[in-house]
Amino acid sequence: MRARQALLALGADPSIIAKRKLPIIPEATQLVVADMARSGRAHLLVPAAARAWQAMRSAAHAGNVRLIVVSAFRGFDYQVRLIQRHIAAGESVETVLQVLAPPGCSEHHSGRALDIGTLGCQPASLAFADTPAFAWLKTHASRFGFALSFPQDNPYGYQYEPWHWCWSTA
Ligand SMILES: [Zn+2]
Repeated sequence: MRARQALLALGADPSIIAKRKLPIIPEATQLVVADMARSGRAHLLVPAAARAWQAMRSAAHAGNVRLIVVSAFRGFDYQVRLIQRHIAAGESVETVLQVLAPPGCSEHHSGRALDIGTLGCQPASLAFADTPAFAWLKTHASRFGFALSFPQDNPYGYQYEPWHWCWSTA
């Protein structure tokens, strides 16, 4: 399996996929531009999730809350490089995998997950939980089909990720 091989190559124990019951997430094939970063980089999502994000962003903005995309679709190879960067910066692979999903297991592969930020808050930081943007999301995101994937004490062994939201039709 590709995810297993990638973990071995990263120096991680591939059994964590089974031990933590991490789902294997196929990469989205149909992606559209959901938003643009100030850097000019396009943030991609599957079409229905992109529409839901744009509707949610507009509703928040109308309520004076600014929601920003930090990260949207990420492919398998991108996830490998992201983990490698953290390891190169001196983190142990075990620590990195408490924050980043193993390649093949990231909800970002699905094109339905978003890391959401707001002005004045460091991207993907716990401080996001104390912002008006997070308070707004807790109240309104479900109306647009978005749910917090990794709350405190989630069963997958990830740290609390108040910034990470996933869209679904359910
Ligand atoms: Zn995320």
